[in-house]
Amino acid sequence: MALVRKNNKDAELAQLQQVVDKLNLEEYLNTQSLNQVLIQCNIERDKNNNIPLHPLVLNTETWQKAGYYDPIKGILKNKTDEEMYYDRVLELYKHVYEKNKPFKGIVVCITTLKSDDEEGGESKTVPLDSRLAIILGSNIEAPDSYAHEIGHLLGLEHIYRSKEDLEDLQEKRQKIIELNNKIGINKERQKKYIDDCDKYKAKNGYDCPERKEVVKKFDNEIDNQKIESKLCLNVIQVYKENKYCFGKESTINFMDYTKDHTNRHLFCKWQWELMQRDIVKYYGKVQKVEI
Ligand SMILES: [Zn+2]
Repeated sequence: MALVRKNNKDAELAQLQQVVDKLNLEEYLNTQSLNQVLIQCNIERDKNNNIPLHPLVLNTETWQKAGYYDPIKGILKNKTDEEMYYDRVLELYKHVYEKNKPFKGIVVCITTLKSDDEEGGESKTVPLDSRLAIILGSNIEAPDSYAHEIGHLLGLEHIYRSKEDLEDLQEKRQKIIELNNKIGINKERQKKYIDDCDKYKAKNGYDCPERKEVVKKFDNEIDNQKIESKLCLNVIQVYKENKYCFGKESTINFMDYTKDHTNRHLFCKWQWELMQRDIVKYYGKVQKVEI
């Protein structure tokens, strides 16, 4: 997938196509990175055996208005901590390519654009079925970045903990407490409302006309709060499962940070296990190879 700007679409697509043709990504993933994990990947090919770059066309004006594009710097940006450009790209992709049939696999989206957080890419460990990896302009020519982002999608965190990670963890813990409180309050209010409705019925002989609607509204709110709380819990879980941490830039692990992209070569065995488990959960089975 190629994320390109509408007003510069052809030039950006041509540039990205050149990158893809040069990269030999499938071979890299299958012989120098994911093969360590016993994961084999097949990248989609067209009838001429080329990797097709499906365009995702971004309208800079609407993205700017929505708060996801900075026209002066020409970069992607997050609107808030919760509203991320990642989700907007995912939404656009689903809208254009998955209206009828969801694709069961990882979607790698490359772009010439950079982002305001100076990251090389963006992907999510949670939820389990998150499957979009965005590789940004600074990193599209670095194959280890693809292995790194796919690692995130398959449940891996960085091999170091940054200050932001620790803050994120603390935030998620706090959020769970707040959500559980809200769920408790909503349940109580719903119970009280139902009691009142019962009294109303006993007095008048018929139900409150809006009873069903109001009870359902409470149910929906509680369900949404439970989903949000579960997501926070899953994030905490992922941090816990990624249990071994080292200093930043001190290893040759794919999930370490790197400036020059020459020093990331390894997934550890405990990382293989997390990734394999994620794949089995996602696909529901694993194909065993007879030797
Ligand atoms: Zn990362």
